[in-house]
Amino acid sequence: MKLHNTLGRRTEDLVPIEAGHVRMYTCGPTVYNVAHIGNLRTFVFEDVLRRSLLLSGLSVTQVMNLTDVDDKTIRGAAAEGLALNEFTEKYAREFFRDLAILNVQPAEHYPRATDHVPEMIALIETLRERGHTYESDGSVWFRIATFPEYGKLSRIDLTAMRRGDRVADDEYEKEDVKDFALWKSAKPGEPSWRSPFGEGRPGWHIECSAMSMKFLGNRFDLHTGAVDNVFPHHENEIAQSEGATGEPFVDMWLHSEHLIVDGEKMSKSKGNFYTLADVLARRDDPGALRYLFLSVPYRKKLNFTWEGLTGAATAVDRIRSASARLAEVAAAGSSKPGAFDAASRAKTFLAAFRGALEDDLNTPEALGAVFPFLREVNSAIDENTLDAPGADAAGEALRTADQVLGILPAEREVLPAEIEAQIEARTDARRRRDFAEADRIRRDLASRGIVLEDGAAGTRWKKG
Ligand SMILES: [Zn+2]
Repeated sequence: MKLHNTLGRRTEDLVPIEAGHVRMYTCGPTVYNVAHIGNLRTFVFEDVLRRSLLLSGLSVTQVMNLTDVDDKTIRGAAAEGLALNEFTEKYAREFFRDLAILNVQPAEHYPRATDHVPEMIALIETLRERGHTYESDGSVWFRIATFPEYGKLSRIDLTAMRRGDRVADDEYEKEDVKDFALWKSAKPGEPSWRSPFGEGRPGWHIECSAMSMKFLGNRFDLHTGAVDNVFPHHENEIAQSEGATGEPFVDMWLHSEHLIVDGEKMSKSKGNFYTLADVLARRDDPGALRYLFLSVPYRKKLNFTWEGLTGAATAVDRIRSASARLAEVAAAGSSKPGAFDAASRAKTFLAAFRGALEDDLNTPEALGAVFPFLREVNSAIDENTLDAPGADAAGEALRTADQVLGILPAEREVLPAEIEAQIEARTDARRRRDFAEADRIRRDLASRGIVLEDGAAGTRWKKG
């Protein structure tokens, strides 16, 4: 699989550090509002990446953080008169619902910043011991002059940056405009934690360094996000992690481009700011939005239009109806051999489909391979030259492609016995205080429409 690495600006072969297993970190949401479709484009890109890795036979451990303490969450909670965790939990639930609706596969871990403050403090202490920090007014700063490689990801011209450029929070005293906060001293009325540097809370960047290294190790394969994360967020993550460990942090950095609407930047004041609910109110088919996202390479700007969404819906319908027709022909079980060699055609189709994905996730080209295949299959059905085994093979190929596309209806009912086994595994995990694993199981079931309820009599499930 070839992927474009922002670090070095080159398309390179992915060579997992541990053979056959990709460890990847995806910057998650700040849970203070409902995601807009630009955010969702990034999460679907990451899902397509994950699914493509799985399709190419690799195993994946994916971590996505939830930022549940920062200026925005604190401000939002205060405005709504809620405790910080009540406020963020509400938006975390919305976020996971959006992902489930868009058929985004759950990551293995969803760590929350507020659950990992001790890890962040430990990392800041390491940076302090290694001489990368200074303290001022109870806050701890990363002195970027101590990390000569600073700027290697974003290629930012530091000499061009002047005081007044909005790089980080300027409410705190720092020596150099480029320095950034690792720890922010407590302000009255704000949530804070005790630390060796005084009462306060972690900066945003340290969260991702601490949580990614906790779950994936000091060095891992892929780190993804939206293009606006490159600077300063990811640049700072590199400085923190490599500053603390003295070894390379991430092998490949992948970033998805922005989404614009009708050629313009999305903004609430222009009335072109859409959430998933807004889109579904106009066209109640999440598969159409998924398809629209996939129709543009992730490194190109995507221009969202309602006409574009209509076109995507038509394309999705064609794929679904072809899949349904194939299932009918296969079920009819006609053994009269047909002239159409579906098995070999399915094979060439899948080779082209996979080849496109392995070329830096070229999703439009992968989609482009689907339709000629469907045309041939449809005419073979019309002409009665497709036999049942052929229909089976063609349908199977389409379902294989859908392991990445994620737009065909779910094939398989979840069996109660399987759910019970999962509940038992989750109870075990909780007993050994492995809450990350317990959470993972709960979210995995949630993504398949199963809601768990913990009560005095144990855990029960229902279809959500
Ligand atoms: Zn991050």
